[in-house]
Order: sequence, then C-alpha cells, then structure tokens
Amino acid sequence: MKISTCKLCNELKELQRSHVIGKSVFRNMLKNGEHYAITTSLSENKIFRSNDQWTTPMLCSDCEQLLNNKYENYSLWALRNKQRGVKHREGPNCLIISNLNQYRV
Ligand SMILES: [Zn+2]
Repeated sequence: MKISTCKLCNELKELQRSHVIGKSVFRNMLKNGEHYAITTSLSENKIFRSNDQWTTPMLCSDCEQLLNNKYENYSLWALRNKQRGVKHREGPNCLIISNLNQYRV
C-alpha cells in the first residue's frame, strides 16, 4: 500500500483503496453482471464495459472506518428504510423521508 497524506486527517499514513462512490452503491448493481459502466478510449477509438468501482489511494484506514461507521452505514440503512427513527412515506409522485439526518447522508 501507498504511504502518503490522508485527504481527511492530513496525516502521513498508509492509504487504503478508497471508493470515490461508496462500495455499497456498487454491490447490488454489479453482483449479477447485468449492470456495468461504459468507458471510452479516444486513443484506441473503443468503448468498453467496465465494473470499475473507482477506487484511489485517498484515505487512511482510520478515516475509512470513520466514514463508513458514521455516515455510509447510516445512509444505507436510512435510504433502505431500516434505520430506527427514520420514516418513509409514499407521496403522490415522490417518496417522503422524515427524521433523516441530512448531514450524515
Ligand atoms: Zn486519515
């Protein structure tokens, strides 16, 4: 792994392969192979299917854990209507989510 400055705590540490978009977002999309991203190569004049999850050495493991525990897990549970205290209700043309901590999401 790469030793560099963590983008969150600004300390020199071993950086993890951080997901730019949460890994859990891709988990369901890519699990059966039906969904994929499209990438292009102008130099090769080609279009490719990709299951790249856009990782880059960005955060140390402490910061990764903090973001996952405090924000990503909460967001997933809240958006899947499994978070205690958060309520989903169907509107006429929308989904109304109440008691959602928007800062954490
Ligand atoms: Zn860090």
